[in-house]
Amino acid sequence: MTDIEELLLSRIRDVADYPEPGVMFKDITPLLADPAAFTALTDTLAQIAERTGATKVVGLEARGFILGAPVAVRAGLGFIPVRKAGKLPGATLSQAYDLEYGSAEIEVHAEDLTAGDRVLVIDDVLATGGTAEASIQLIRRASAEVAGLAVLMELGFLGGRARLAPALDGAPLEAL
Ligand code: AMP
Repeated sequence: MTDIEELLLSRIRDVADYPEPGVMFKDITPLLADPAAFTALTDTLAQIAERTGATKVVGLEARGFILGAPVAVRAGLGFIPVRKAGKLPGATLSQAYDLEYGSAEIEVHAEDLTAGDRVLVIDDVLATGGTAEASIQLIRRASAEVAGLAVLMELGFLGGRARLAPALDGAPLEAL
């Protein structure tokens, strides 16, 4: 493990049985409160944005906003929020996806992504991959390209990486 990986891991708090029994919640607030760790994370993600040739950064609500916005600024790219349905005031593209119980829907402003964009998607945790998969579908429906998906943590036992492989279509999935 690199020094940066050790630093990041040391600033993530495991909270058992939150928000419901059986879930180990990965709390990133200690990392956000530590300027050395937050800067290291931002720099590492910005390097991924540069390496993948991204022209825009998409952050997934809500913690993907906190991580994605400083990465966009650091890399000199625009930041695009992908929000839960009903929060964006302009014309949107929306994408529904299944949850364990029920379904959810995410949206992006249609004018924010266009053909020729290469988009790096950022979130804190990759779990089942459902949210990331829906966001990739949104990006492709906007005729933009997916440069990659970057997350702080991947919960490998939930199989998100395998689920996302067809949607990513060769674009990298980086889990720090
Ligand atoms: P999924 O769509 O199943 O990959 O879930 C990913 C979304 O749910 C991300 O936006 C995460 O912030 C959140 N999430 C899922 N599982 C956890 C967890 N164990 N700890 C913290 N956040 C989680």
